[in-house]
Amino acid sequence: MTTAELKAANAQYLWHPMAHPKAMQQTPPDIIARGEGSWIWDIDGHKMIDGVGGLWSANLGFGRKDIRDAIVEQLDELAFYNTFRGTTHPRAIELSARLVKLMEPDGVTSVFFSNGGSDAVEGALKLARQYWKLKGQGDRTKYISLRMGYHGVHFGGMSVNGNTNFRRNYEPLLPGCFHVDTPWVYRNPYTENPERLAEICAEQLDREISFQGSDTVAAFIAEPVQGSGGVIVPPANYWPLIRKVCDKHGVLLIADEVVTGFGRTGHMFGTRLWGVKADMWCLAKGISSGYVPLGATAISANVAEVFQQGDASLGSVTHGYTYSGHPIAAAAALATLDALEKEDVVGNAARQGDYLMQRLKDLGQRNRLIGDVRGVGLMVCLEMVADKATKASFARGAKEVTEVAREAYRLGAMVRTSGPNIILSPALTISRSEIDVLCDALEGAFKKVAP
Ligand code: PMP
Repeated sequence: MTTAELKAANAQYLWHPMAHPKAMQQTPPDIIARGEGSWIWDIDGHKMIDGVGGLWSANLGFGRKDIRDAIVEQLDELAFYNTFRGTTHPRAIELSARLVKLMEPDGVTSVFFSNGGSDAVEGALKLARQYWKLKGQGDRTKYISLRMGYHGVHFGGMSVNGNTNFRRNYEPLLPGCFHVDTPWVYRNPYTENPERLAEICAEQLDREISFQGSDTVAAFIAEPVQGSGGVIVPPANYWPLIRKVCDKHGVLLIADEVVTGFGRTGHMFGTRLWGVKADMWCLAKGISSGYVPLGATAISANVAEVFQQGDASLGSVTHGYTYSGHPIAAAAALATLDALEKEDVVGNAARQGDYLMQRLKDLGQRNRLIGDVRGVGLMVCLEMVADKATKASFARGAKEVTEVAREAYRLGAMVRTSGPNIILSPALTISRSEIDVLCDALEGAFKKVAP
């Protein structure tokens, strides 16, 4: 198709996630045609630094020959076979062993594969309920999660999501899901003291579990750093506190590491950043650097044990997908893990993240539209405000936010907007000079929109 034909066909035929079909006709999306390293080119040949990293996913950047070769070799060897009871294949086995080895310090002994983040969450939620049935505590069916959280779009994940936008069009949701406040330092009705805020929010979880009845709650699920909700980094004492609360009530702790896993925060996993072990981890995106869709639910020894000892029928995992552990995805993931280990990608994310934060904080101080700059590693958010002094928010879809993003695009940086937020999650392999390109473009964009 020609460029013009592609644009017309997109508007006519393609429905996009999280978008109004008509809006896609009126304001057509950017067509990204090529990628190399931290860079992308749109269909008109405009070159940009990819501040979005695919979608928090292209952690090793685009065009990697090692991942490409692993995929091609696997295509030649075995394009697909299933891993349902009775069959398996070498790459899924190798990847499971590799992941368990990587997560051994976290207490992981098994993994269950799927096709993406929503799947990984669904797996964890279902396994949590099954765990309790196996333990003879079948009343433990409820889930508690955080406001502002994002856990994908399946009915389970959507029901524990903490953002009305992702919930109300598809209500009624799964019964038995409850929410507590997230420790959001910039906006909360309680305190400006981060440590105290973490205590208040952990106490809220404690009270909610007691109110529901401890013996009715299966799990608490949260992101170690909330990504889609606006890169909300909890105070350092929050995760250790919620681990304690979960232990007190015997509730399973599920860490949704779909974004934070595999180095995004400058640590291999978000739970390591907080020095906490979860009971299950939801993994996707960076696991295969976004080259092929893949999800995984990692399972700790204490959960796995209960399944191992479980009754033959009750203990069977009657959940899974045709493409659980797809060989092409597993091959891409193995090549990704090789690179993560050999190239100090995680260390680079920490160092470049510090530099990115320093540049953006500086910009934030100088520009009246930037209310808050927050993040950790290479996940960062610029929250735009109508009034810096009062923190008055922009309305959803405010033109200033779109204008900054469009101007940044013109100046050579792709950034993502979400409500009042400009969200950045570039490749973890990004260099300092590439961070400069990204920040220079943003600086220019903010100057243009709010001189
Ligand atoms: N959990 C989290 C924390 C996520 O950020 C996302 C996606 N951004 C998901 C789950 C869902 O992943 P997917 O879109 O691959 O289904």
